Amino acid sequence: MNFITEKERNTPISDKCDLLVAGGGIAGISAALAAAREGARVTLIEREYMLGGLATLGLIAIYLPLCDGVGRQVSFGIAEELLRLSIHFGVDRDEDVPAMKAWLTDENIDVEARKKYRYAAQYNPHTFAAECEQLLTKHGVKIIYGTVAVDANVEGGKITHVMIENKSGRSAIEVKTVIDATGDADICKLSGAKTALFDKKNMLANWYYYFKNGKVNLRLLGALDDPDDPDGSAQISERRFTGVDAVDTSEMMMLARADMLKDVTRQRKENPECVPVCLPTIPQVRTTRRIIGKHVSNYGEEHTYTETSIGMVGDWRKRGPVFELPFEILYGEEVKNLAVAGRCVSTDEEMAEVTRVIPSCAVTGQAAGTAAAMCDDFTTLDVKKLQEKLVANGVKLHETDL
Ligand SMILES: Cc1cc2nc3c(=O)[nH]c(=O)nc-3n(C[C@H](O)[C@H](O)[C@H](O)COP(=O)(O)OP(=O)(O)OC[C@H]3O[C@@H](n4cnc5c(N)ncnc54)[C@H](O)[C@@H]3O)c2cc1C
Repeated sequence: MNFITEKERNTPISDKCDLLVAGGGIAGISAALAAAREGARVTLIEREYMLGGLATLGLIAIYLPLCDGVGRQVSFGIAEELLRLSIHFGVDRDEDVPAMKAWLTDENIDVEARKKYRYAAQYNPHTFAAECEQLLTKHGVKIIYGTVAVDANVEGGKITHVMIENKSGRSAIEVKTVIDATGDADICKLSGAKTALFDKKNMLANWYYYFKNGKVNLRLLGALDDPDDPDGSAQISERRFTGVDAVDTSEMMMLARADMLKDVTRQRKENPECVPVCLPTIPQVRTTRRIIGKHVSNYGEEHTYTETSIGMVGDWRKRGPVFELPFEILYGEEVKNLAVAGRCVSTDEEMAEVTRVIPSCAVTGQAAGTAAAMCDDFTTLDVKKLQEKLVANGVKLHETDL
């Protein structure tokens, strides 16, 4: 590759905060909310002009389960708060009504119904995004949209400034702590933390809303990354994408839209009134880049007591498994005031199937945000004190607490 040397420049400092959250997906929303509730001055930067990331702009509008599939709720705190917020205007598909009836009550609990129906729901991504925005602004979080983190200044093992670019130009934000909730571990990469790309690249997905038979429906093409999926909706292309290459990712978006056109044309043969009504505006990528943290979680940690647990998650694919997520998957040793949350936490490829989904992004977001409000060095934080705060805010840490 050829290079050009840019001219030296003075970058204006446009903002100063205790915590900079980069990325406003579920992880970033949870982190910002948790930190603001602890009294931190939080700025959240988001590349797009709406909150929610994949869960709203990506139209991935299914809040996967907060339960273990055998009747026990395992994810609590902000993970549950956001699920309830997402269905404030009601669930988006009729099948979820009995599940919500079983789970959204504290009185006369129907144990058999909770075993049968998982604590999950399809929601309206548009109202959810707007409600998240109201929630964060109510808590004093400063949101700056249309803003991309493009560089980080590191001194003595800590980030001092994050460089951003937006409509106002290039500037720097002076920070005490940073949470990388970009989904792609962008800040980790920019600041020299250890990262890795996922070997399993992204299949082409095509989730979009269409109108047919008097109803708006969510189409789930490329719903499962499973070539053996019996319903045939798994593979819509042989091609795989890293999600961290601009040209490759642009092609991914264009192929998804071309597939949408084919799909709508097919559907219109049966029903000429079928029309698309909403398309994803960000790439539907599952796993791209992650931090290699102090600990790398793996699937073998199922049903294991974890001293430094920051909360629990189940496995959306199966009934039974419960994982206590360790604090050490949120940070590495290289950059001490940087934590991650969401789909770029430190796990192996198999465990990422569990940690990349919405409930887990909220669990890791809440923990990272709470921790960020308590310290400017995640490597020396008193985890017991963090756990006390999480428990005080409704989180359950261990399977033995259920
Ligand atoms: C096809 C598909 C199906 C899925 N199905 C489900 C499902 O049914 N249920 C479920 O629970 N999960 C599902 N998932 C997974 C889930 O939707 C996501 O993994 C989760 O929402 C990720 O949240 P996040 O906050 O970690 O990241 P993201 O949602 O990716 O949010 C990251 C945010 O950071 C912003 N950003 C990125 N880089 C920068 C930067 N440099 N500077 C500033 N901002 C930046 C982005 O614009 C984005 O808003 C699915 C995913 C895919 C792709």
